[in-house]
Amino acid sequence: MKYSEIKNFIAGRFVETNAAKMEVISPLNGEKISSVPLSKKADLDRAVEAAKEAWPAWAGMTIKERVQIFYRYKTLLEQNLEELATIVREENGKTTDEAIAEVAKSAELTEFACSLPQLVQGEILEVSRGVECRVEYKPVGIVASIAPFNFPHMVPHWTLPNALALGNCMILKPSELVPLTAIRIAEMLKEAGLPDGVFNIVNGAQEIVEGICDHPEIPAVSFVGSTKVAKIVYKRATSNLKRCTALGGAKNHLIVLPDANPEMTAKDAAASMSGCAGQRCMASSAMVAVGEVDHIIEKLCDEARKIVPGQNLGSVISQAAKERIEGYITAAENAGAKVLVDGRNAGVQGCENGFYVGPTVIDNVTPDMPIAKEEVFGPVLVIMRAKTLDEAIAIENSSNYGNAAGVYTQSGGLAREVMERAGAGMIGVNIGVPVPREPFSFAGWNESKFGVNDITGKSSIAFWTQLKKTSTKWNPEAGINWMS
Ligand code: NAD
Repeated sequence: MKYSEIKNFIAGRFVETNAAKMEVISPLNGEKISSVPLSKKADLDRAVEAAKEAWPAWAGMTIKERVQIFYRYKTLLEQNLEELATIVREENGKTTDEAIAEVAKSAELTEFACSLPQLVQGEILEVSRGVECRVEYKPVGIVASIAPFNFPHMVPHWTLPNALALGNCMILKPSELVPLTAIRIAEMLKEAGLPDGVFNIVNGAQEIVEGICDHPEIPAVSFVGSTKVAKIVYKRATSNLKRCTALGGAKNHLIVLPDANPEMTAKDAAASMSGCAGQRCMASSAMVAVGEVDHIIEKLCDEARKIVPGQNLGSVISQAAKERIEGYITAAENAGAKVLVDGRNAGVQGCENGFYVGPTVIDNVTPDMPIAKEEVFGPVLVIMRAKTLDEAIAIENSSNYGNAAGVYTQSGGLAREVMERAGAGMIGVNIGVPVPREPFSFAGWNESKFGVNDITGKSSIAFWTQLKKTSTKWNPEAGINWMS
C-alpha cells in the first residue's frame, strides 16, 4: 500500500483500535492505497476523554495566545501546499490544480481564524451609575465536525480553525472514503504547537456519527454532507439538546439571459459544472436558458469538449458514483432530453480502473425529471428552457435545495431581480461558483442547510461560543439602584 494504515489521533498520538478496517481506494486508478478503521463508540469515548482533559488549559488561554498557533499553522500549510495537494488528489481524484486551490483555501480560512481576536472583544457598558454590564464570548466545550468526501482538506478547515481559536476542543470525523488528508492536518497542528487533546480524529462511519450525536459531553455538532444524512444528524443532535449546523446537498441554477456575454458565460458555466468532476456543492448543475440563447449554448458545448478526463478533469469518487451519474444521463435521454455532449463511458489510458465520467451537457430537460430535481454530483449540466425571467425564477424557486444560484447578464436591473428573488443562500452575478470569501460566511438555504448559523466567517462565531454576561458594582457609595 502506498500509505500506511490509518489510525485515530487521540491526545496528540496516533492510536490503534481493534475495529474492523475498510480499504481506501484511489479513484484515479482504482488502487488500494491504505485502510481506515471503522471505529467503535469506545474509540469516540477515548477521544472525548482526551479533549475533556485538554479543555480547561486550552480554554484558559487568551484568544491572542491561541491564534499564534494558527499563524504558524497557516505558514506550514503554505510551505507544504504541494505535498498536501498530492494526498488530496490521490484519495479524492481531483486534478492537481484543484487540490492546490483547495489547500490554499484552507490557508485563507486559517487566516480568518487569526483575525478572531479583532471580532470577539465583547461589550461593556455602564448601565447604571457605578454598575457595569460586560459580555464575553466563551467556548462551548468539546465540539464535533463531521466531513464529506469531496473536500478532504477544505471542509475540515471550515470548522477547525475557528472552533479551536475560540477555545473549543474538537473531534473530527473525516469521510471514511478520504481519511488520509486528516492525518497531515493533525501532524501539522501539532507541529504548529497545538496542545495534545485539543484536536482529535476518530475515523469511521455511521456508528461514530451517531455516537457523536448522542454523546452527552459533546454540546455542538457541525456536519457537512448529503441532505439525507444532514437531516438525520440535525434531528438526532438537536433531539439530544445539542446545537447543530448541518449542511446538505445542492442543485444550483444558473439563469442565462440573452444579453449575457457569450464567451464568459460559456467558459464559466463549463468550469462550474465540471470543476472537481462536478462533485462540488457549489457547482452550477442546472442552467435555465431564457429566450434565444442558442449561440451561448453552442459555445458552452465547445468549452465542455475541451475538458478531458485525466487531463483537466479528475475522477469521480467511486464506481458506484460513476454508475449513478451515468444512470441519470441515460434516464434523462430515455425521457426525451437531448444529450449534446456525452461523458458516458469515459476512460483514461493507463488508469483503466479509475472512475471517470466526461463532461456532459443535456438540453431539453424538463423541471419534473429526476436529473433536474436531484443532486447528480458529477460533471453534468442540464439545460431547461424558459420563455421569461419570471418563468426561470419560478424554476429556481421550486427546488428543494437552496445552496447557490446565479445569473449571467449585462443588465444591472435584471441581475438585481435575480439577486432579490432567487431562493438560495449564495448568489452569483456573472460568477460561476459564488463562494463568499472570508470574512463573509458560507451556507445555503432550504434543504441545503439545517440550523441557524452559517458554517464559516463571522456567522460561525455564535455557533462556537456562548455569551457570558457579568454585572459588576464596585462603588456602593453611589447609592442603591434597581440592581441592588
Ligand atoms: P454523505 O452524507 O454520504 O457523508 C457525509 C458524512 O456522513 C461522512 O462522514 C459519512 O461517514 C457520514 N454518513 C454517511 N451516511 C451516514 C448515515 N447514514 N448516518 C450517519 N452518518 C453517515 O456525503 P458525501 O457523499 O460524503 O458528500 C457529498 C455530499 O455532501 C453532497 O450531497 C454534497 O452536496 C454535500 N456537500 C455539501 C456542502 C455544503 O456546503 N452544503 C459542502 C460539501 C459537500
